[in-house]
Amino acid sequence: MSPLLAQITARIAADGPITVADFMAEALMNPAHGYYATRDPFGTAGDFITAPEISQMFGELVGLALAQCWLDQGAPAPFALVELGPGRGTLMADLLRATRAVPGFHDAARLHLVETSATLRGLQGQNLHPHHPVWLDRAEDLPDLPCFAVANEFFDALPIRQFQRTADGWQERRIGLRDGALTFGLAPATPLPALAHRLTDTSPGELVEICPAAPGIVTALGQRIATHGGAALMIDYGDWRSRGDTLQALHAHQPVDPLTDPGQADLTAHVDFEALARAAQTVPGLTHSPMVPQGVFLERLGITHRAQSLAAKLRGAPLDQHIAAHRRLTHPEEMGSLFKCLAMMPSHTATFPGLTT
Ligand code: SAH
Repeated sequence: MSPLLAQITARIAADGPITVADFMAEALMNPAHGYYATRDPFGTAGDFITAPEISQMFGELVGLALAQCWLDQGAPAPFALVELGPGRGTLMADLLRATRAVPGFHDAARLHLVETSATLRGLQGQNLHPHHPVWLDRAEDLPDLPCFAVANEFFDALPIRQFQRTADGWQERRIGLRDGALTFGLAPATPLPALAHRLTDTSPGELVEICPAAPGIVTALGQRIATHGGAALMIDYGDWRSRGDTLQALHAHQPVDPLTDPGQADLTAHVDFEALARAAQTVPGLTHSPMVPQGVFLERLGITHRAQSLAAKLRGAPLDQHIAAHRRLTHPEEMGSLFKCLAMMPSHTATFPGLTT
């Protein structure tokens, strides 16, 4: 048994079943044995691959969209250039390269990275070497500055709670022990005000998920944006309103049982974009874009044009890879429909590039 599985088993034996959120937090972020705390999980040799690791075009287009917002808002200086959960730092490196030609953008940017993993902070430091990032544990600690932020596949890594609807209300899905092994079970039913609005669109037996940390992060960013200006772009896999069990474990690009070997597999859940939008709506002076599929967003930002100009310099296998990467980011059967984009910005400003109805 791995040290982390032994720790979780001992905790449940002593204190009783734990929530899915507690389990995810341990599996992903335990400082000694957690998945993100101990490794670089990205790329073909890792467990999964993300959009910025698929092609430089992703970070370039996101960067130019954020820079366009910055120009639309009168090029405020200084401003906080923020990424939540930057992974290897690839998106930010591509964003910074693409925005070099935007007059004043780099001089005004104060780079802030919200990242809890010490291992990934080290990689980000190497990849963003000349730019002197400031690392923060929490979005709540961001400075009081105009804030232009991006979060790609960040919210899907935040712990979720799962609830099954029953005749009496909601029963929380928890992880307990059976014959010494981790197993899913249900807590006794309780009324839950946070899920009152889901009584209308679910029936008994259905499961819904909530991400308790997400609204606080959205409002922390949103308050800075509403007060000082800026925008935040959130890109993730998921949909408008959560439905069903979406907890997923990936190891070496294959789905595995989430409970078998915590800390060895990536754990994610679909992002509920309605919950992000509802949190944004609670901040006075803030508005949000419609939710737009990633493929549509990237096409509107001109990915085909950029892909063609990069393709002109390629031959053979690198050209084939480049064409496959373009398809992977945008095609509805790949990431184009499953991944969605939502931005928030001050109510009085222009819309976010690519995110209109
Ligand atoms: N955006 C990157 C990485 C996505 S993986 C990409 O697209 O490639 C999720 C990232 O979020 C990792 O960097 C992970 O360490 C970080 N992360 C996960 N939970 C976090 C939390 N609660 N606070 C800050 N960072 C977190």
